[in-house]
Amino acid sequence: MNPDHPIRVRFAPSPTGFLHVGNVRTALFNWLLAGRHGGTFLLRVEDTDAERSEPRYERQLVEDLAWLGLDWSEGIDRGGEYGPYRQTDRYDLYRRYAARLLAEDRAYRCFCSAEELEEARRLQLERRETPRYGGKCRHIPPDEVRERVDRGDPYTLRLRVRPGIVGFDDLVFGRIEIETVQVSDPVLVRSDGSPTYNFCCVVDDLLMRISHVVRGDGHLSNTHRQVLIYEALAAEPPRFAHLSTILGPDGQKLSKRHGATSIEEFRRRGYLPEALINYLALLGWSPPVDGQEILAPAEIREQFDLARVQKSPAIFDPAKLDWMNRTWINRTPGADLLPRARPFFTAAGLLPAEPSPAIDAWAGRVIDLVKTHVDHLDQLPEEAGVLYGPDPAGIDPDARAALSTPEGREVALDFVRRLEEEGALGADSYRRIVGEVKAATGRKGRHLYHPIRAALTGRGSGPDLETLVPLCDEGARLPLPRPVPPPAARARRILEAV
Ligand code: GLU
Repeated sequence: MNPDHPIRVRFAPSPTGFLHVGNVRTALFNWLLAGRHGGTFLLRVEDTDAERSEPRYERQLVEDLAWLGLDWSEGIDRGGEYGPYRQTDRYDLYRRYAARLLAEDRAYRCFCSAEELEEARRLQLERRETPRYGGKCRHIPPDEVRERVDRGDPYTLRLRVRPGIVGFDDLVFGRIEIETVQVSDPVLVRSDGSPTYNFCCVVDDLLMRISHVVRGDGHLSNTHRQVLIYEALAAEPPRFAHLSTILGPDGQKLSKRHGATSIEEFRRRGYLPEALINYLALLGWSPPVDGQEILAPAEIREQFDLARVQKSPAIFDPAKLDWMNRTWINRTPGADLLPRARPFFTAAGLLPAEPSPAIDAWAGRVIDLVKTHVDHLDQLPEEAGVLYGPDPAGIDPDARAALSTPEGREVALDFVRRLEEEGALGADSYRRIVGEVKAATGRKGRHLYHPIRAALTGRGSGPDLETLVPLCDEGARLPLPRPVPPPAARARRILEAV
């Protein structure tokens, strides 16, 4: 990239709801573009819609982006050279630019009332025409304008759009041109003095020296208006890259009906940020090496290129996301998963809320033992239930059968007796005891291991016992909110219940 034109991109959400898959992918692609080229990623909040914007949504989006690791170097909460970064703090700037456009006759005052415009719109629709402003106030003589302003007539400020063609080269969609009549004269400032999205967006992107505007394709039609505003300000527009819509697996626009779509919800259910980033990056972008699917955020950033972003809609597939999350959970050591998994364990009453070295070392190994069975972290506590043993009613039929034959019972009883005589149980001592049971009873293979597993877990199948048994033994000695029964005691309990 040209060092004279550094990459500066922004994510510009409106704090009117939770961050969802669509706008987070926009944030991600901006972050990736900046990261790839050593550019700047900034966070601007577009809160000019006073009725729908709420501070709690702003707080949440900052939290969600930080959780995902999409860090920004300028923005609402950290300032920067081109701030302020919240639009409601920038009204003076918009006013200054509006005054300039008005003084240069690039904009004009429109006195049409909402009712009048509505009526005109209705008639156009009736005639099957595209509704657009007819230009009634374009040529009101200056004296009359002054008189009406003095009289206190309310007015909006409209851009005086030139005839002809307006176009731009979209980095994803290619060249897009339209006749400017289709745009009519967009409102820049409403009658209550509040600036409109298209106007603020241009002033901000210009003043914040944005080099690339990467956003959802829902804004394609706004882009023509914005290009005309740049023209009126005698400014060069940034490059534009619009991202295709995200659809659900049924081909409909992604919505709540398709399940979880807000980042907050994914976080609550124990998805890993790495998995979400991996998945979202592949919604519309593909890596240069075919078939590469599991990529860490840094790897994606090294390879990201807008030229590999597709314009056809991307399909959001929750099953694929689950697969990716499972893959990331399995790639991540239990000790590293623990900080993210702790809230789930704490809520289930299995771990204390506060970290503690001894308990945490143990919990990390517990997670390693059971993590292969989960799609998201909120499922871990249930899987970890194997450490606590079943209540007598939870013994499964397979385990019951294994402990009901005289041979199986003999193995299990011998095993339990030896466990009771043993001190601390590590993998080695567990192996030795199993060897002793084998020698004493003459059973081997399934006839040996099946009753032992049934006695220890009350289940016919489950995690590796050489790992589970020492973990139960160690857990029994830790000050846990819910005590882990020592292996011998739980086996005795299970045997008595069969
Ligand atoms: N506030 C706009 C939105 O959330 C941003 C559009 C843009 O990036 O220009 O859709």
